[in-house]
Amino acid sequence: MSKHLSEAIDFAVSNSLLKFNTRYELTHAPFSLTPCSVSPDLHQQISSLTPVFNAMWLKIANDTAFLKNALEKTARTDDFIRNLLGLLPKGLPATSLQMLLSRNDFLLEDAGTPSGQMKPKQVEFNTISNSFPSLSRQVTLLHHYLSHKGILQCSPVANDPLEEAVDSMAAVIKTYDYPDSCMLMVVQKPEQNIFDQRAVEYRLLEKHRILTIRMTLDEIAENGQLSDGHLLINGQKAALTYFRAGYAPADYPGTAAWKAREMIESSSSIKCPSVGMQLAGAKKIQQLLCKPDILRRFAEEDSFSQVQETFVGLYALDDTIEGVPAVEAACQSPGRFVLKPQREGGGNNLYGDEMKASLSTMPESEQHAYILMERIEAVVTPAELVVESVSEKLPSISEIGRYGICFAEGNRLIENRDAGYLVRTKSADMDEGGVCAGYACLNSLCLND
Ligand code: ADP
Ligand code: MG
Repeated sequence: MSKHLSEAIDFAVSNSLLKFNTRYELTHAPFSLTPCSVSPDLHQQISSLTPVFNAMWLKIANDTAFLKNALEKTARTDDFIRNLLGLLPKGLPATSLQMLLSRNDFLLEDAGTPSGQMKPKQVEFNTISNSFPSLSRQVTLLHHYLSHKGILQCSPVANDPLEEAVDSMAAVIKTYDYPDSCMLMVVQKPEQNIFDQRAVEYRLLEKHRILTIRMTLDEIAENGQLSDGHLLINGQKAALTYFRAGYAPADYPGTAAWKAREMIESSSSIKCPSVGMQLAGAKKIQQLLCKPDILRRFAEEDSFSQVQETFVGLYALDDTIEGVPAVEAACQSPGRFVLKPQREGGGNNLYGDEMKASLSTMPESEQHAYILMERIEAVVTPAELVVESVSEKLPSISEIGRYGICFAEGNRLIENRDAGYLVRTKSADMDEGGVCAGYACLNSLCLND
């Protein structure tokens, strides 16, 4: 192992840049030794979009009639979406307060200009369980260290989504105004990315003296109860419920877990996110926003075109694409599209021949569970990637996510801002992008001139 590589790994391990691999052995989180270089203009453009997208998604999340209508056909074939829709408040919600820790993910396309400019294209706007506020901070610190040592030539853009998230969580919990209340973190067990979650817990306690209780939905079913509308976990009031699970069907092994989710939703605990916000993050909603009349309903007039420019084509399977039925168009050019079900967490999308095979045998009744998205042709640059202590130089693609923080009462925004970034860099021949799923490496941003 080279001296540079061992110095980078020492720093990573010493600074909690860690995860469990698929065999649940402790390892450093995969990271890049080549920061992602963007122009100051592009950086400014992407970060200024965060509050715009947050505000838009808040309107969608609060529009129960729109959500029900938009997801009705999907719910007929997708039990998970149907169950979530069933949790939307029937009348007034138990609390009008909600928190959103969003992440707006972009790939960069060549703008086709002689100066080699790049334009951001949205992969998706994530509304639940956005991971890596801590690990993305730590990888930025790793790159700072390597730049001080002269190993890296550029110094990364400062980045601390962990501190931003924790400070906002503390402010939200204070709004609940109940002494000695805690934060409930809904988790999966086991969890490969536990250190990223623990960092939130430790910092909230260290800086704000607020305790976090980690539980799966099944554990919440066993240990939780409602009292005067408050959510009590082993007798302690949960002012804020922060979902780092609950986005996947496997998080609900049976009725007990669904009952726990129902109890959370019907309590006055502030949700991060609310079930409406979780549903607003469905890929079906992203597809509908691609229609100008629907986008107009939720986007402000002065940001409409800015938002729209980040979209690639998104279609329902019964749409037509340039006059050809969508399924036929995708089967004719499988390299041009990605087929996506209403799922989060990576590894669910279908590409190429697999997509074609699935589409050609899919019964019509199931088509509403999916959307088709045009494939983003991201720019490819060389990067040195380090996975389980082995480094490799590869043509690669970087995906930039902007964290956003939003706190609202009804449609009134109390807080709405950008809170830093996540960069994931992966080999250019990889379709998917998750870090814990083993596809991508954590990275930082550098500004070029
Ligand atoms: P998930 O909710 O599972 O994270 P995403 O829609 O974010 O699903 O897709 C997972 C990964 O697949 C992304 O991080 C990205 O790397 C890749 N991907 C998704 N959509 C596209 C697309 N339209 N073009 C190219 N790559 C894509
Ligand atoms: Mg994603």
